[in-house]
Amino acid sequence: MKPHDLPTVAFDAALIARLGKSGPRYTSYPTADRFGDSFGYRDFLHAVADRRTRAGVRPLSLYLHIPFCDTVCYYCACNKIVTRKRDKAATYLAYLKREVEMQGRLFAGIGGHTPEVEQLHIGGGTPTYLSDDQMGELMDHLRRCFRFAGDATGEYAIEVDPRTVSPARVHSLRRQGFNRISLGVQDFDGAVQKAVNRIQPEEETRAIIGAARDAGFRSVSIDLIYGLPKQTVATMDATLDKVIAADPDRVAVYHYAHMPQLFKPQRRILDADMPDSDTKLQLLQLCIERLGRAGYVYIGMDHFAKPGDDLALAQRQGRLQRNFQGYSTHADTDLVSCGVSAISAVGATYSQNAKTLDGYYDALDRNELPVVRGVRLDMDDVLRRTVIQKLMCQFELSIAALEQAFPIVFRRYFGRELAALAGLERDGLVSVGEDWISVSMKGRLLIRNICMVFDRYLNSAEPRHSKTV
Ligand code: SF4
Repeated sequence: MKPHDLPTVAFDAALIARLGKSGPRYTSYPTADRFGDSFGYRDFLHAVADRRTRAGVRPLSLYLHIPFCDTVCYYCACNKIVTRKRDKAATYLAYLKREVEMQGRLFAGIGGHTPEVEQLHIGGGTPTYLSDDQMGELMDHLRRCFRFAGDATGEYAIEVDPRTVSPARVHSLRRQGFNRISLGVQDFDGAVQKAVNRIQPEEETRAIIGAARDAGFRSVSIDLIYGLPKQTVATMDATLDKVIAADPDRVAVYHYAHMPQLFKPQRRILDADMPDSDTKLQLLQLCIERLGRAGYVYIGMDHFAKPGDDLALAQRQGRLQRNFQGYSTHADTDLVSCGVSAISAVGATYSQNAKTLDGYYDALDRNELPVVRGVRLDMDDVLRRTVIQKLMCQFELSIAALEQAFPIVFRRYFGRELAALAGLERDGLVSVGEDWISVSMKGRLLIRNICMVFDRYLNSAEPRHSKTV
């Protein structure tokens, strides 16, 4: 059997309809709603100082947030600023570079060595809102402030809106040092694109994918969304034909959570255009089945990858990790994030930057890093984070390995959680053995439900999260 013939996930519509409740996406544990403003800039400095005093140097992941977009997509729930005033981006870039420089100085010489950057991700908003020259300037600045791993081992990714770049710009991005590119497509159907205010001709997207291949990007990823207005099984089938023909290395299929009461742009989506919940499930099933038949491995949550892609390899080798960008191939890195609203994860802390431009600029004008809230994890948090990471990334958990790493007797410590898992075990989502907890093929799509059992803070009475499927 070839690797891609292996079944990687099983779709059980009745079970998903019954259990697909609201739940966190676990890009962090504790989740960001637990961050508090009693954690600030000085606590972040302590967390970095703590890294200095411990043996060994952890490599770094960098995330940079570019919040600007030209136009608004009606489904958007991101933290972005829609403007055509380009001078705003120039001002932002100046402050972002100042923050990068401060972070670079902070991490320089840590533990006698300067940690190497193994991963870089530039996201938004729309990173390519910056001009080609501005992006080149930013990349040069990053290299002056940090030490980067070589192109063959480092993973340097950028999110690209195909409407904002030409094939020549894609070649330039590769020359600037990016080796992974992810393209927002969402749907190729014209009526769907119109309903969400994101008109993106298919030929344009295909030209960008072709340019990325020619330029030598190591991985090309396409983002889709299911559950958008005007989507039907037939339109999604046609979109998938085009996606599969484009042959990306990775595909992300995100669920559209329609919450107009929380996200203003979504109020422009007509209720009458929304697919009903049965159709949404059929759309998801279609995506899973078609991508599976086309040879993609289900990585977890919303992600699919070719068996030879680094994400699939990292999963097989137990190196996969979950962070604010979704799944990541480099475990054991400290994540340093720069830009408005960006979240860092250093040691056993999370810290978030100011969410408004004014707050972000004010802190940097005071010569302080713009951290405004966060959390320091206690032992129980670190333990539960480990459990959730293992389940999210490997779909199994070694009880013995956990007992070796933490001073606990698993069955005693997690007695209440094991009782709660018994219900999910009866539904066939998970099996709990003497030494292992293993997620079944049909449990993989409901992995959030399994992880939620281990979330100490979760209060199901508060609908703070999107649906698990
Ligand atoms: S979906 Fe992306 S491009 Fe569209 S408004 Fe939101 S952040 Fe901007």
